[in-house]
Amino acid sequence: AVDPALVRDLSRSAGILDPHAIRRDFPILDERVHNKRLVWLDNAATTQKPRAVIDRLSYFYEHENSNIHRAAHALAARATDAYEAAREATRRFINAPSTREIVFVRGTTEGINLIAQSWGRRNVGPGDEIVITWLEHHANIVPWQQLCSEKGARLRVAPVDDRGQVILEEYEKLLGPRTRIVSITQVSNALGTITPAREMVAMAHRHGARVIVDGAQAVSHMRADVQLLDCDFYVFSGHKVFGPTGIGAVFGKSEVLDAMPPWQGGGNMIADVTFERTIYHPPPARFEAGTGNIADAVGLGAALDYVTRIGIENIGRYEHELLHYATHALASVPGLRLIGTAADKAGVLSFVLDGQRTEDVGGALDREGIAVRSGHHCAQPILRRFGLESTVRASLAPYNTCEDIDALVDALHRIQIGRS
Ligand code: PLP
Repeated sequence: AVDPALVRDLSRSAGILDPHAIRRDFPILDERVHNKRLVWLDNAATTQKPRAVIDRLSYFYEHENSNIHRAAHALAARATDAYEAAREATRRFINAPSTREIVFVRGTTEGINLIAQSWGRRNVGPGDEIVITWLEHHANIVPWQQLCSEKGARLRVAPVDDRGQVILEEYEKLLGPRTRIVSITQVSNALGTITPAREMVAMAHRHGARVIVDGAQAVSHMRADVQLLDCDFYVFSGHKVFGPTGIGAVFGKSEVLDAMPPWQGGGNMIADVTFERTIYHPPPARFEAGTGNIADAVGLGAALDYVTRIGIENIGRYEHELLHYATHALASVPGLRLIGTAADKAGVLSFVLDGQRTEDVGGALDREGIAVRSGHHCAQPILRRFGLESTVRASLAPYNTCEDIDALVDALHRIQIGRS
């Protein structure tokens, strides 16, 4: 096992970050559950919100609240400025060339559906192929199945090896002249695998395919640079990166977005309407029909600025140390099998315990104040690849400490010796 003091020294001496200082930014971490200290290890499901985001939401509703883009009055101008500043914060965070390439959506699920329904319906036909990987979340499987069945296209799936990494040679074999779309996760929510997304994008481009990167699990752990990745689309959810629920973003290269038809019709997305025809706004407004989630977009901007103040690279390095510590510490639990042991991993520890049902482990941990997820994590195919229907998943954020991991490991020991 790794000595906790060692990890703490590592993080401090390398000047990475101080998780205890970060904890103080998150009021909910002082909460007690079942009369125990809350240990929040369900960050892959959703992250907690720092005071900066909570305060920004309150400020919006106390001083700026209005609908945007429509009315000519002072609060409309404030709300519009705040909303567009959030779009700029999002652009900066993922290094997109222009705010015209940032579309606000409810989250990753809605973003992928938007691309499938707009770009996909126009560009995918009978006999065409869509390539994904075995690691995908249901949000990056079901919309493509729906498109394939509507269009008579074929879904092809790149396999993973026994450690949970995509087998690049097999992936390459799936690419060909019929490949229209490749849609891949950057980090697996079920296993934590970091895929070689940049390489996979380049390989797909050599076959003329458009590439979507699902960044839902990546944005809070590593730099999401859409120009470096060179992906055509990048999608993520605000709530997984310390922002509010119900808001996320789609990045699309401007030449791709410009050629896409609207997905939903209504207010905000039009330049002119008669009963005979409608002229649409250019992107991003073309894809933001109706009143959007204005306040939460502003909250997302605050969350991304918060992450930038800590430094996403610092977060990644600190979590890497913590993941290393946790991986060693979990190995001491009798009968524990870690699922997903790829060399490149971020933030996730998925495991099963011999002789224990995952729901029971999750329930026993909850009674100790430790929040993890047990279930299929909306990624049934990848768990079945490992012969499982369910795992227990502990997932990390920069406010997690070695003490959190020790609490988890101690509780698992007690569960295994039947004393919990
Ligand atoms: N993709 C991945 C990799 C995810 O982990 C998730 C959520 O867990 C999603 C997509 C869907 O995100 P949301 O539910 O925020 O739309």
